[in-house]
Amino acid sequence: MKNIVVLGGSFGGLTAALELRRLLGRNIEITVVSGDGLFVFMPSLPWLIMGHRRPQDITLKVPDILAPKKIGFFHEAAERIDPEACKVFTATREIPYDYLIISTGPHLAYDEIPGLGPDRGYTASTFTLDHAVNAGLAWQKLFEDPGPVVVGSAQGVSCFGPSYELAYEMDAELRRRKIRNRVPLVYLTSEPYLGHMGVDGFGNSRRFFEDTLAEREIKTIVSRAIEEVVPGEIRLKDGTKLPYKFAMIAPPFKGVPAVAPLGNPRGFIPVDKQYRHTKHKNIFTIGVAVAIAPPDPTPVPTGVPKTGFMTVRMAKTAAAVISSEIKNTPPPSPAEMNVVCIMDMGNTAAFMKADPLLPPRQKSVTKDGYQYRLLKIAFEKYFLWKMKRGISGLP
Ligand SMILES: Cc1cc2nc3c(=O)[nH]c(=O)nc-3n(C[C@H](O)[C@H](O)[C@H](O)COP(=O)(O)OP(=O)(O)OC[C@H]3O[C@@H](n4cnc5c(N)ncnc54)[C@H](O)[C@@H]3O)c2cc1C
Repeated sequence: MKNIVVLGGSFGGLTAALELRRLLGRNIEITVVSGDGLFVFMPSLPWLIMGHRRPQDITLKVPDILAPKKIGFFHEAAERIDPEACKVFTATREIPYDYLIISTGPHLAYDEIPGLGPDRGYTASTFTLDHAVNAGLAWQKLFEDPGPVVVGSAQGVSCFGPSYELAYEMDAELRRRKIRNRVPLVYLTSEPYLGHMGVDGFGNSRRFFEDTLAEREIKTIVSRAIEEVVPGEIRLKDGTKLPYKFAMIAPPFKGVPAVAPLGNPRGFIPVDKQYRHTKHKNIFTIGVAVAIAPPDPTPVPTGVPKTGFMTVRMAKTAAAVISSEIKNTPPPSPAEMNVVCIMDMGNTAAFMKADPLLPPRQKSVTKDGYQYRLLKIAFEKYFLWKMKRGISGLP
């Protein structure tokens, strides 16, 4: 019986494991190995920070999803992979595999900028459940003693959407509380222009973000890198100093250390169009862990986003390729990656679509409307409903 090991219990890892079970039935052993026993619906973390969601509203227990499908689960982080011996090593066991799927997401490299981040620095973060819970507490404190807020992305970020969302949501909340006049709000970014998003924009996204941020009097600072953060002040490489009472800055992304030796200098893993490792043919990588070259290098480094939408599609493709190989049937034809993203803006929402992901494109659009906010809420409920039941066959 073939034995497939999946690293990571989130969008990519769980979708891949469930899809493999659906496609291959019970004649296959599937094991998920993950450092986290909870699935977190990360697109809702900004809402959690703003107080609109509780952790229990947006999390599921990974064993409850996998056990009914007879998928094994080791709640342990992988420490290293031996691709020649086809084994994954954790602190307590070695796990052999015939196929390996890596979906370990990003390593959040706060340590690359002194003073950045919630653990050893002075800024809040929205990139894990614990960080978001603490960010929510710090955000509530601002109402007692309002002052400057800086939200945005450091150099090397490849996920800009949540920072934009939070800037709009914070603006809306401060206005609801009638204290916006006491809170200078700055959106700081490594993107070369507003709305670049690491993919050279989505249609008219530059104009869209310039206008909608200006309408809300959110000051913007683009194409800058951060030198260091000290309590109450962000220092940029060009000498600018930004005072803050509350700051939330996305960190540089890298590949996680356990899989980084299989990847490029930043630890992201090179794959072909079927998400197969370019050298190790029985290793597949999906989601944030994948290396995607940017359309053009930006003056301050930025990365191409790998959204949840993209990650789920990558997971299904990798599962279909492995399934066809095991069943000895023709592989699925490689599909061009496209992306759809809905971004909350506090009292409306932005809808962005790019097909394909990188320019030149057939279609790309950025537009806003209240209906997209309702769509985002519906998507959250639908995705959690599907995941809770271990359903991978639906869109
Ligand atoms: C705040 C926020 C908002 C977002 N909003 C959207 C949105 O609106 N729409 C959208 O499409 N996408 C959104 N995204 C992006 C989306 O969440 C990611 O694309 C998706 O989570 C990527 O899935 P992944 O499986 O690649 O990695 P992750 O979700 O990062 O999961 C990685 C998994 O690997 C595990 N892991 C890490 N290291 C190891 C190890 N050594 N061994 C074993 N397991 C390990 C982790 O514990 C985790 O379970 C958002 C992301 C964030 C942070």
